Amino acid sequence: MPSVELVTRGARTMTVCNSCRYCEQYCPVFPAIERRRTFEAGDLAYLSNLCHNCGECLYACQYAPPHEFGIDVPRTLAELRLASYEDCCWPRFLARAFRGQGALTALALAAGFTVILFGLTMWSNPAGLAPRGDADFYAVIPHGVMVGIFGAVGGFVLLATAIALNRFRRAIAGADQTPVTIGALIPALRDAVTLRHLHATGSDCVSAEEQRAPWRRWWHHATFGGFILCFASTSVAAAYHSFFGWQAPYSYGSLPVLLGTAGGLGLVVGPIGQWWQQRRRDPSLTDASQTGMDQALMLLLWLTSATGLALLVLRTTSLMAPLLLVHLGVVLALFVTLPYGKFVHGLYRVMALVNDARERDGGGPASIGAR
Ligand code: SF4
Ligand code: SF4
Repeated sequence: MPSVELVTRGARTMTVCNSCRYCEQYCPVFPAIERRRTFEAGDLAYLSNLCHNCGECLYACQYAPPHEFGIDVPRTLAELRLASYEDCCWPRFLARAFRGQGALTALALAAGFTVILFGLTMWSNPAGLAPRGDADFYAVIPHGVMVGIFGAVGGFVLLATAIALNRFRRAIAGADQTPVTIGALIPALRDAVTLRHLHATGSDCVSAEEQRAPWRRWWHHATFGGFILCFASTSVAAAYHSFFGWQAPYSYGSLPVLLGTAGGLGLVVGPIGQWWQQRRRDPSLTDASQTGMDQALMLLLWLTSATGLALLVLRTTSLMAPLLLVHLGVVLALFVTLPYGKFVHGLYRVMALVNDARERDGGGPASIGAR
């Protein structure tokens, strides 16, 4: 649960905004505030995940620090977002992982998994580590073993994510169980994919007062697009193997390699850009305690793509086996941290956008009249 102090501060901030309403054109957060009279923990979890931290409302606010009201909507909602991740995660004792992450933790996890994979290979298949020139990944780690390891980890990640999302859905819907319609779902997904509210007023995100640039949006697009293309590459390769019996390695002109290369390039460029852009942003817009979590995801995404691209280029050399094990170690580190790190913000934000579309469609909040 978010602390009583945070809920009280969040509710007070939203109540001031609800009286003021100066920012109601900026993004969906303010109309969603206006549909409420009081702000419980579930309302705050919803509003915080609807916010894209574009920063516009901080510089517009006449009550922002140093005013005695001290209204800082972007930072308050950032703190509430983190609290919602911790509150909904499964199993709950791993909630502390959200704050415990950082670049060093990410590196240690990736190194740990790599050492385990090296140890397992040396123990069970030492011949797999011998230099070879045939790019045969399954001679290093057999296909069944790879599927077993990643199937078990992937299954846990899916289960943990599904439970967390269900908890979040219940928290933000409250008593209102109006079903989501296709008419609400489509605009929500469109807004999520286009990152519409990262430039809510039609211009670009602010990085400081009166400083707008499109970069935050473009780095996000590169990272998200790269992730989706890499996922598509792995899925196509799995279908080739399982349904057609076409074994890896695939040629440089094949669909899995083309998708993986394009995705890998996006994941090399996007995380570096996000890291660079984040360092230049006004600290008033963010919650400094989340920097480690942001950096851990960016580093693991970057390492996944960098080692993947290196493996593609060097797959017919003697470096293939050690590079493959390093790459798989990094991917495992990325996988196990997905439900307990910054990755979840995309999923929660999509659910908040869907809830917003449902409310605008006439679905709630159910208790507005009673509040
Ligand atoms: S952020 Fe400030 S200016 Fe904007 S609605 Fe809230 S109180 Fe008003
Ligand atoms: S930071 Fe941007 S997205 Fe968040 S509440 Fe303010 S205007 Fe809306």
